[in-house]
Amino acid sequence: MSTAKTVIVLGADGYIGWPMAMHLSRLGHQVVAVDNLARRSWDEEGGTESLVPIATMEQRVHRWHEVSGRTITYEQLDLCDHDALDDCLARWRPEAVVHFAEQRSAPFSMIDREHAVRTQANNIIGNLNLLFAIQAHVPQCHLIKLGSMGEYGAPNIDIEEGYITIEHNGRSDRLPYPKVPHSFYHLSKVADSQNIHFASRIWGLRATDLNQGVVYGCETEDTVLHEELLTRFDYDSIWGTALNRFCVQASTGNPVTVYGKGGQTRGYLDIRDTMACITLTLDNPPEAGECRVFNQFTEQFSLNQLAELVTAARRHHGQDTTVVHLPNPRVEAEEHYYNAKHTRLLDLGLQPHYLGETLVDSLIDLVARHADRVDPILLERPSVSWRTGGNEVWHQYADARRQGALSQATAQLVGSATAVRGAGEAANGTGAPRPAATAARPGP
Ligand code: NAD
Repeated sequence: MSTAKTVIVLGADGYIGWPMAMHLSRLGHQVVAVDNLARRSWDEEGGTESLVPIATMEQRVHRWHEVSGRTITYEQLDLCDHDALDDCLARWRPEAVVHFAEQRSAPFSMIDREHAVRTQANNIIGNLNLLFAIQAHVPQCHLIKLGSMGEYGAPNIDIEEGYITIEHNGRSDRLPYPKVPHSFYHLSKVADSQNIHFASRIWGLRATDLNQGVVYGCETEDTVLHEELLTRFDYDSIWGTALNRFCVQASTGNPVTVYGKGGQTRGYLDIRDTMACITLTLDNPPEAGECRVFNQFTEQFSLNQLAELVTAARRHHGQDTTVVHLPNPRVEAEEHYYNAKHTRLLDLGLQPHYLGETLVDSLIDLVARHADRVDPILLERPSVSWRTGGNEVWHQYADARRQGALSQATAQLVGSATAVRGAGEAANGTGAPRPAATAARPGP
């Protein structure tokens, strides 16, 4: 590490934000952890839940202090509340802000008009408020913004790191790479990227836009220190990644479900590499006025390759896992060219952890420890279609939450869906008002 800095981590209650706050604190930075706990309310809204129980922010920062002797200051604040955000930056005058605080689920943004609007308003307004607060109070501050590799889509040419030189009618220019994203959520990220690029040009801000691939893994050197320091693990069809879902399915003896043909290829990285990438970015800030873009991932996999990795890991433990292909709820190419550049973080010194059977085994072990919390419906049935929005699964869960009780229709839905599952499979055992899982638990 170069010098200790004051760093504000926005979205610090999230899957990546919490381990990042601890990582930066461990490195000696003064860390201010900001979140409005929106993600916990979105889980509540849709009946989803982290498989790994997570502590409150107050418990987390208290436990971190007990375990490490270091202090993380937590502030509950909504980025869309400009006055509060402005006041936060004015008080702390950070050298860097790491911005994770967005609605980050593509399916959530595709449920209906209201969720698309909510996603784009939350993400774009929050990011704009941040740009104005930085310009007003700390124009030298380094903004490290989490974008997504999904912003690019899957073009039939190589994906460059943020910019591409185009020759046209005898002239040439280096321009932001054209983006054709896959969801209203990813479109919000594209708008953020444009706004950051613009603010860098007109106000001379310094920014790094990290187009991150899909992150996997749950354990960092800090999360493993105490159960109250664990980060979340999502497996449902709204918040979970395909790899997480495959691991839960394999662990609970279910078939691995691949959407469509399975040739959909994306970039992936280990959560420990996310910690390293952001630390390297922080230690190597861009010049004033520069909007730098890094593609933050270490390997590319298709869904079929991930399914094969998970089934092979199981095979080596004597377990047979089948792979089934479901009709794809998304609108996306299922066989396509994909070659994304990702050398800039390697050039800064990133030493990747690659995805192998050991990591898959550790995820499967993690699932096994919490198998009684797996909800079979949320695991197996996609609840949002790109063409028609939230389906009956989404509505029954959301309605049941709203009503605070299991409706007759939900009971029927759950009953018919669980009929295909064998007895003894995992079910929710929390006793909480978790409509489908509770009703879905197979009889003895
Ligand atoms: P997450 O949902 O676990 O965490 C996001 C956090 O931001 C939540 O705690 C939420 O409460 C908070 N938040 C959202 N809106 C807010 C607002 N208006 N004000 C204050 N807090 C707010 O997400 P994550 O998986 O940790 O992802 C973090 C970032 O990285 C996101 O921006 C996401 O788009 C990006 N990203 C994640 C992945 C991945 O695989 N997880 C991949 C690519 C990019």
